[in-house]
Amino acid sequence: MPIRILPPEVASQIAAGEVVERPASVVKELVENALDAGARSITVSLGNAGRTLVQVADDGAGIPAEELVLAVERHATSKLADAEDLFHIASLGFRGEALASIGSVSRMTLISRTAPEPAGARLRVEGGQIGPLETTGAPVGTVVTVEDLFYNVPARLKFLKQDTTERRAIDALLTRYALAYPLVRFKLNEGSTVSLQTAGDGDARAILAALYGVEAARQMLEVMAEEDDFHLSGYISPIALTRSNRKEITFFVNGRWVRDTPLNAAVLQAYHTLLMVGRYPIAALFIRIPPEEVDVNVHPAKAEVRFRNPDRVFSFVQRSTRRALLAYAPVPQVAPQNLWGTTDNRPQTTDSGPQVDPGWVLAHDYGPQTPENRPSSAEPSSIVQGASSALPFERVPLLRLIGQIGATYLVAEGPDGLYLIDQHAAHERVLFEKLMAQFEQKNIPSQSLLTPAVVELSRPQAELLASQVPVLERLGFHVEPFGTSAFQVRAMPAMFARSDPAAALRTLVEDFEEDEAPLQNELEAKIAGRVCKRLAVKAGQVLSPEEQRGLLSDLEACASPRTCPHGRPTMIHLTVDMLERQFGRKGAR
Ligand code: ADP
Ligand code: MG
Repeated sequence: MPIRILPPEVASQIAAGEVVERPASVVKELVENALDAGARSITVSLGNAGRTLVQVADDGAGIPAEELVLAVERHATSKLADAEDLFHIASLGFRGEALASIGSVSRMTLISRTAPEPAGARLRVEGGQIGPLETTGAPVGTVVTVEDLFYNVPARLKFLKQDTTERRAIDALLTRYALAYPLVRFKLNEGSTVSLQTAGDGDARAILAALYGVEAARQMLEVMAEEDDFHLSGYISPIALTRSNRKEITFFVNGRWVRDTPLNAAVLQAYHTLLMVGRYPIAALFIRIPPEEVDVNVHPAKAEVRFRNPDRVFSFVQRSTRRALLAYAPVPQVAPQNLWGTTDNRPQTTDSGPQVDPGWVLAHDYGPQTPENRPSSAEPSSIVQGASSALPFERVPLLRLIGQIGATYLVAEGPDGLYLIDQHAAHERVLFEKLMAQFEQKNIPSQSLLTPAVVELSRPQAELLASQVPVLERLGFHVEPFGTSAFQVRAMPAMFARSDPAAALRTLVEDFEEDEAPLQNELEAKIAGRVCKRLAVKAGQVLSPEEQRGLLSDLEACASPRTCPHGRPTMIHLTVDMLERQFGRKGAR
């Protein structure tokens, strides 16, 4: 084919492809425009998760009637004057592309009015064709209605996910913007269902609750730091509150949501050694730095930025976060080994905040708090938690087995009281640490199965699994495709040799499905955790005395014996002191 200049419709659809990928991208661009226009109230309405309708109404400055046609032209913006401006951008938009792009792949109607104008103006753009400018009654502000997104680009339409997925992306986006702009009133509705509504009164905790749930929001710690002209504010989770992936780390840089930034690593570093393998904090952090310190013009959807001085930003975030974390939840500086065989294995905590009776020392301080010791919602609650928690990576002393109860728990005596151990959680922990230790030494003994197990999978599952064969090999699984969508397991890690290979394989597939693009090392830890969970002894399984003793001594040898790999407690500790109080032998309760 000879070289030709593309027809303008094709060129603009290509350009639109970079900006508008899915309904959530439309919401993002329109909400950013509303914020740039100084809106105090932004209402987003959806139809069919945004496929048939995305409408964003704001009470911002509006667009003068005579500029409305210009607003939908490509590279038409009121936010940049010359190339120099590109290097200190204070607005969210600057390329003048969004309205043009959206208009070229949908049926878009713009209604807008500025304060001095007596009436509003309306303009319709359909598949890039701009209609006539009309006068209409309208309040001050702008309403952009986007119908039938991608109606003229069927190929794009096919890439949209299920409604629930598209809606979740919009929800996630808007909730985060609401958190970043607590003084703006946000509302998200689909028909009569309102899924988000904020007051715009600056109360960030209420928005946190919408994002992470009420209990988590209550526990989140506030971060506030300033170094010269760098500012950081936001919320991070205390060490007792974790998630199994890093998706809950959110960053805004100068009011702009940026994704997958190296800053995530700064936050993870702040938690270094405080969280278990495979657990991640929740964080929503807002950085303000002078606009010339950051280049926002590096990503088509403006989802990434480049810092002029990345090291400085990184260490500022890492330091500030770490400081906030330690200030709220004092972490005892005791090497775990020193706790071996000592009688008091509770951390030597600094005395800050109200003292609570340690009570059920281990487990319960890591679970939700009881109503009595819950501080008022305005205060960070981890002061209480930090004061009496045994940390998950603290060793347990040598234990004397007493026996098994309910075919579910082991009972044991330690130097400082009674231990109730959940056999399933404990075994999970033991298997996990063994597997990860072998994995780190790149030496997972594998054992061939006498009769390979065949597992039928769905086509997409089989494809996923096929792409992850090398990971499985490293974990000691040897699997081979068997027909179009079945696999056979030929070998398993030796430590699981007696378990059900089919169950193990299904567990692995679930893991691949859950995470779209996990990082390699965390993927392996996650898979190991899942497999261990599946293959650990169950509650209700009677264990022989040897098995009980074996489990106990394996647990004593673990680096983090007090929680299972998923963060649940493996044991409850009733201290001598507590028993004495309960029986009225000491003090009054
Ligand atoms: P950009 O935001 O990069 O300038 P857009 O295509 O998103 O480009 O918008 C083009 C112009 O239209 C903006 O520069 C702004 O002047 C105007 N505009 C768009 N949306 C709004 C709005 N909600 N309120 C006021 N003005 C708007
Ligand atoms: Mg814009």
